Amino acid sequence: MNPLSQLPSVEKLTVKLEGTTILPRPLVAGLIKREVAVWRERLAAGEEHPREDIESDVHAALLSFAASRLQPVINATGVIIHTNLGRSPQGIRSADALRKIATGYSNLEFDLPSGNRGRRAGYLESALAILLEADAATAVNNCAAALVLTLRHLISDDRNEVIVSRGELVEIGGGFRIPDVLETSGAKLVEVGATNKTHLDDYAKAITDKTALILKVHRSNFYIEGFTDEPAVPDLATLAHQHNLPLVEDLGSGAVMNTDELAPLDHEPRPQEALQNGIDLVIFSGDKLLGGPQAGIIAGRADLVAGIKKEPFFRAVRCDKLILTVLQECIDDYLHCKGSNPPDLPTLTFLSTPIADLRTRAEAILAALPENIVPVVDIVDATSRTGGGTMPKSEIPSLAIRLTPQGCSVDDLAARLRTGTPALVGYTEDNALHLNLRTVFPHQDTALTSAVLKAIEQ
Ligand SMILES: *Cc1c(COP(=O)(O)O)cnc(C)c1O
Repeated sequence: MNPLSQLPSVEKLTVKLEGTTILPRPLVAGLIKREVAVWRERLAAGEEHPREDIESDVHAALLSFAASRLQPVINATGVIIHTNLGRSPQGIRSADALRKIATGYSNLEFDLPSGNRGRRAGYLESALAILLEADAATAVNNCAAALVLTLRHLISDDRNEVIVSRGELVEIGGGFRIPDVLETSGAKLVEVGATNKTHLDDYAKAITDKTALILKVHRSNFYIEGFTDEPAVPDLATLAHQHNLPLVEDLGSGAVMNTDELAPLDHEPRPQEALQNGIDLVIFSGDKLLGGPQAGIIAGRADLVAGIKKEPFFRAVRCDKLILTVLQECIDDYLHCKGSNPPDLPTLTFLSTPIADLRTRAEAILAALPENIVPVVDIVDATSRTGGGTMPKSEIPSLAIRLTPQGCSVDDLAARLRTGTPALVGYTEDNALHLNLRTVFPHQDTALTSAVLKAIEQ
């Protein structure tokens, strides 16, 4: 018998559509066709499966596709800047501003007083420069783009060597490696020093008439302990400037606030400090410790920033108006509360929430659950991390709701919560699911409680 005849045509298959109403019909049809084609091949290869199995498999594929649609997630991992969960959430003020700009026209490149063409991001660039105590600043798509753009601007055919310490040739995550970025930019990497020690003299000896710049890269996601040494930034700056070379630093996370004042954290080098120490251009991400949207910020010497903005490649990596709106709100937030409290940005709020607040909320969540399930739910001490490849050493004390599953596996319980609405993501430790409250917005506590109840009762 021809195995293909075992497979009903698309029309004859009875695939449940439960849980997939969010998907547009053509997507459902297209996906079913694709799945059926795969099944046809498997049956043609001699596999045997009952029709019901095929139908439920196709339904599972539809569900998993529906779950891949970009949607809100309650982050109960305790990792504040979670790259897989979208890094920094934005505040309500940004969302309001975004709605206004997104749903109408704006003065994106229009000067309202004169009625002439205006400077795109002019306001933001001035605000950034003031906040960062820099001569000039600008923003592009992300930090990786900012680095490539800066390197492309600073190198030329006969001066393309970039000096980097061996201790700073890092991989940031997602395969983003400094040596590769340099190569992409057309630069030639000149490594100096050893992994743990690089001396000023190592840099000095590497300078030739082909040197374009000296690059420092912040070791965001790891640390070196023991016998380590590197020159002080002011000394390195003096060396670079004696040879008329710019000194550029990729700071990565770019905390504008003092992180050690926000939480029991290490002091993360601030862009302001880098510039004060003699760095000519500092580069960092918008959506890490700054707490803004995805962006790459470049700040420092006015002539260099102006030159970078004239690069044809700048156009390819510039920010769109929606990002500019959110970034403008974020930077204004900082400027409004300069010197006093941290701005009202979720990332900074999560970093600095007192443990007592988390305890009050955890107890309220527990109290809202029926008593008979309380033995499998309790509150435990936990730790939070900043994440996003920032401050790998720092752990922030936190609290978690611990769910010890009864009658199902912890993996099943976790999967139920992940595929619920809203999706809830925690982590498994000691065979129990932990919901770390530091990264959960207080307004999400009710949804979290309902999700837990539903998952446990299932
Ligand atoms: C995170 C990071 C980057 C990449 O930033 P994106 O904004 O994700 O492009 C680059 N350099 C360092 C040191 C980083 O920590």
